[in-house]
Amino acid sequence: MKSLSIIVPCYNEEKVIQESYKRLKQVLDTLSNRSEIIFIDDGSVDKTALMLANIAASSPQVKVLSFSRNFGHQKAVTAGINYCTSDLAVIMDADLQDPPELIPRMLLAMQAESANVVYGVRKKRSGENWFKLFTAKIFYRLLNRLSDVKFPVDTGDFRLIDRKVIDQFNHLPEKNKYIRGLMSWMGFKQVPFYYEREARFAGETKYPFRKMLKFAMIGLFYFSKKPLNLATSLGFASIGLGLLYLLWILFCMIFLRGYIVTGWTSTVMLIVFFGGVQLLTIGVLGKYIGNLFDEAKGRPEYIVSEKINF
Ligand code: UDP
Ligand code: MG
Repeated sequence: MKSLSIIVPCYNEEKVIQESYKRLKQVLDTLSNRSEIIFIDDGSVDKTALMLANIAASSPQVKVLSFSRNFGHQKAVTAGINYCTSDLAVIMDADLQDPPELIPRMLLAMQAESANVVYGVRKKRSGENWFKLFTAKIFYRLLNRLSDVKFPVDTGDFRLIDRKVIDQFNHLPEKNKYIRGLMSWMGFKQVPFYYEREARFAGETKYPFRKMLKFAMIGLFYFSKKPLNLATSLGFASIGLGLLYLLWILFCMIFLRGYIVTGWTSTVMLIVFFGGVQLLTIGVLGKYIGNLFDEAKGRPEYIVSEKINF
């Protein structure tokens, strides 16, 4: 029987930890697999760390990794995968949006299809505002169009992975990881698992707009070079517009003498337009250079300050 780790990143989740643990434990007790839970405390400033330490003290099945500060959700999941020694791992949120009760069915799906990855696809998402649903929908579809890798849409990090995938993941050198994308990129046999995403059990989202944007940017710039073509396309478009404008001026000079003297609006329009095009393309180049800079620094992805039951 294969062993199983459940990887749960936690950031200020004092309101949900106890319930998450309870529901996970109930599910794991019904399985015949040897199992463990790895909680990653991502620099929480509430009672999360203390609560996790108490849970770990009462159960050797629970392991806790604490970060020295808040490094972010993707780094926390990465650490969980790095420290996992089991044959299989499930990645899930601490807030019970991804119901632990689905784990046995995911295990069966993996076995039935001899898959390496069983990824959750959200059929419905309860308790999420229209803005999040709308931006997520646009983002996943846009990324798919721009990227050379095809990603399943409406898929988060909730998934079951096997040792092959874990080992490959641990060899990926990039520091800014867009985990769901990397897992698709890796290949192997991946099967979808449709489920209804529930509302958060308690507390509020730890992904404010700022973090969502950063996350989306890593997905976009690490998986597509198409934004770099933007400069060329915009360049051609500007030349086209410039030529049209030149024709217009010649027309005015020949047929409507004197008209071109009153050119204030058009001059300002041109400055704003070309200024915008140039800043935009410099910005896109800057993004790629910034990412290269981050990778070149070679700093560790996260710093673990404490380990319990490892
Ligand atoms: N999380 C984390 N570090 C962060 C932000 C979030 O470890 O900086 C964890 C969080 O505790 C939760 C999971 O990542 O278990 C997903 O976050 P959340 O549920 O807030 O995101 P949402 O489901 O609203 O997109
Ligand atoms: Mg959540």
